[in-house]
Amino acid sequence: MSIWRMMALAASAEPIRASLPLNVDCSLPCPCCIILGACVDLMKHKITLIPGDGIGPEVTGAAISVLRAAGFQAEWDSFVVGAEALTKYGDPLPRDLIDSIRRNKVALKGPVITPVGTGFVSSNVRLRKELDLFANLRPVKSLAGVKSRYENVDLIVVRENTEDLYSGLEHEVVPGVVESLKIITDRASRRIARFACEHARQEGRKKITAIHKANIMKMSDGLFLRCFREVASEYPEIEANDLIVDNACMQLVIDPTQFDVLLLENLYGDIVSDLGAGLIGGLGVAPGANIGEELAVFEAVHGAAPSIAGRGIANPTAMIQTAVLMLKHLGERDIALKVQSALERQLVSGKVLTRDLGGQATTSEFTNAVISSLT
Ligand code: ATP
Repeated sequence: MSIWRMMALAASAEPIRASLPLNVDCSLPCPCCIILGACVDLMKHKITLIPGDGIGPEVTGAAISVLRAAGFQAEWDSFVVGAEALTKYGDPLPRDLIDSIRRNKVALKGPVITPVGTGFVSSNVRLRKELDLFANLRPVKSLAGVKSRYENVDLIVVRENTEDLYSGLEHEVVPGVVESLKIITDRASRRIARFACEHARQEGRKKITAIHKANIMKMSDGLFLRCFREVASEYPEIEANDLIVDNACMQLVIDPTQFDVLLLENLYGDIVSDLGAGLIGGLGVAPGANIGEELAVFEAVHGAAPSIAGRGIANPTAMIQTAVLMLKHLGERDIALKVQSALERQLVSGKVLTRDLGGQATTSEFTNAVISSLT
């Protein structure tokens, strides 16, 4: 901020202070704090926050505490979504939230409960479609200190996020017969294939395996596979192969280290993501991101886990690692590294672990232990 802008702000300090968000995070005195007595817009990052429901508020709260302790400063624009938003605003996905993400370009999102078998359309799915967050990126990497059946798993799940059986097109043909439409388009298939190739190139990955059932769904999965092969041919340095989804699941369980990047349609991607989480210690540790051309919403793989919600026992590791992905996206590599290292040091010490990892610690005990590990 220039000194001129700062002086102009100082001259009109009252209205500005009145419009300050309540949750401005300002722990260090900066020039505008000194002049105005409040932080105005030196905040480098404005981020939309969706605490979500179920365990969402517990794990997003934990992640934000760790980020703050690591020195990350941001203005958080917080919104309710799902059943609470439906009651308050008549829409589980309020327009103000969508506008906020479009403005800020980045959001950190907790899980949101979707009624099973009836009720409103999943807010998670609607959000991804509405903002055209076409790529769901889910790194599956073993964490030192987290016991699992495998070591050295390091693969990336790239899931198409906007179509397939998630099109939401279902209808009753005649009583007792329903139809769900699986939509696969050339455009979305090429776009996600290119994303996977570009991401693999950027991360120095060597191989992409497209996972499909094109032997049965010859047209839909056949199109997805054909698009992948054509796009991948433009990336000669990356080995491109493919596997039928049932075999892929078996191969993942036999030896996950044979895989590098996995490319999947929406539904297979959802299922294989949970399988991937199971390979590295469970849903409590698996991070994720929804990426579009301009916008990104960072969201762990796990759902709202209602059975453990409100008990203070959820593992915030997945959400902390999700926040690390967000920090990298924002160009905050040093803080990202600091948070990831503290998390790993804390896990390796094995002293304060949540129940899903074999310990007895609460979410806040675990979070405080991570904060104590920050250097
Ligand atoms: P969705 O379909 O909404 O993604 P899901 O079917 O994948 O949800 P989750 O809500 O993610 O299911 O949770 C499944 C189980 O995994 C929970 O009952 C809980 O035992 C465990 N779990 C998920 N997330 C966590 C977490 N952060 N900490 C500890 N356990 C978790």
